[in-house]
Formats: sequence, C-alpha cells, structure tokens
Amino acid sequence: LVEARDVELGFGRTPALRGAHLTVARGEILAIMGPSGSGKSTLLHCLAGILTPDSGEIHFDGRRIDTLREDERSALRRDRFGFVFQFGQLVPELTAEENVALPLLLAGARRAPALARARTWFARLGLEGLEGRRSGELSGGQAQRVALARALVAEPDVLFADEPTGSLDSLTGEQVMELLVSTAREQGTTVIVVTHEPRVAACADREVIVRDGRAAPLGAGRSLR
Ligand code: ATP
Ligand code: MG
Repeated sequence: LVEARDVELGFGRTPALRGAHLTVARGEILAIMGPSGSGKSTLLHCLAGILTPDSGEIHFDGRRIDTLREDERSALRRDRFGFVFQFGQLVPELTAEENVALPLLLAGARRAPALARARTWFARLGLEGLEGRRSGELSGGQAQRVALARALVAEPDVLFADEPTGSLDSLTGEQVMELLVSTAREQGTTVIVVTHEPRVAACADREVIVRDGRAAPLGAGRSLR
C-alpha cells in the first residue's frame, strides 16, 4: 500500500536518508526503530507526503505521490491518512470532542453529525465523560487517546504515528499502544509507527531498523550490532 523506493533526502549538508527502501502492505502494522538521528521521522514524513525526497519515489495505493502538487498531497493527507505525534497535538482552545471532530469538519461534514460521530469514540477508548474537557484538563495518556481518536475518526487508510507513546510512562504508553493496535486491526487500518520502545514495537506485525538513513529488516539490523 505504501512504498519508498531508494529515497534520499538531505537537510543542507546533513544527509538524513540515503537510499531508503520500504514496502508496507495493506492492513499491516509496521514499527520503525533505530537510533536517534538515524532518519526515522524524516522517512515517516516522506512516506506521508509531508516532505519531498531529493531523489527516489514514494508510492501510495498504486500511485506515485512524491511528484504530486502540494494541494493534491494535502488533500491526500486529509482524506486518506491519520497522524499521531508525541505531544502538543490537540488544539487547546477546543474541547476534546471538538478536537476529535476536527478532521470530519475539515472534510466538509456538518457540525452536529461530526460531533455525534466523534462522541462514539469516547466510550471505545475509555474516555467517557471527558468529551467537554480541554487539552489542559486531560492527563497525558487521556490526551494521547483523544489524539488517537482524532487520527482514526475519518477512517484513514494509513495511520502515521511518530513516537505516540514517547511522552507517557511505560504502563500508560503500553495501554495507548494496545488501543492503537486493536482499533487499527478492527478498522483494517495500515499503521506505520516510529518508536524507541521495544515493547511497543513488539505489538507490530513487523519491525524495520533505520540506521544512517537506510532501512533494514530487524534481523539485518541485529546482525550489525
Ligand atoms: P529521533 O529518534 O531523535 O527522533 P530520527 O531518527 O527521527 O531521530 P530525524 O528527525 O529523521 O531522526 O533526523 C535525521 C537527521 O536529519 C538528523 O541528523 C537530524 O539532525 C537531521 N534533521 C532532521 N530534521 C531536520 C531539519 N528540519 N533541518 C535540518 N536537519 C534536520
Ligand atoms: Mg524522530
């Protein structure tokens, strides 16, 4: 469903990706691991059409996307992708349910049905009663679950997550990750998750290691140690 072919990208003189290859099948949950600065976030942003590679190709659903115009790519991100990041992603001025409804509203849904659909997520993720809270009134784990609901509410084909449990203690992080994986499996969502935590990666179907801007299966990564 998602593929990187020989992707290279540098920031000024810093080469962040140097020939990264990756293929992710529909419905697969893939964990991307690797040392700090190895290019994990950069690879994720290329796959999601946020960054444009200097060379190489990104394909999604049988179509090359790195050569699309920016407005076409932002429409693709809005309509087909969901995103969860480490922190600071909820809009603080909005309530939790408004945050979850946001992708539906941006896609043109009317307010009442969008909020009704958003509310169905609260029970599903163990967030009953928190619909009217603002992000400052939520714990870290609650805020991450709200962010997860927002990423999944529009039923994206692919969920891109960059250290979604990185700001949480390990128990809360594991619970958020379990919810992420179980909901993604229910919906058939493809997940690409960057994580430092082996226990989080263990929930995935497959792990790849990014080292020095190149991606390798976990087996090959281990043999380099
Ligand atoms: P971490 O685990 O710390 O999040 P990462 O594997 O996600 O690291 P990237 O953020 O992809 O690493 O960065 C890869 C390389 O590119 C690093 O050397 C980093 O310093 C550099 N880099 C990333 N973003 C930028 C930027 N916007 N401008 C300049 N250099 C950048
Ligand atoms: Mg990163």
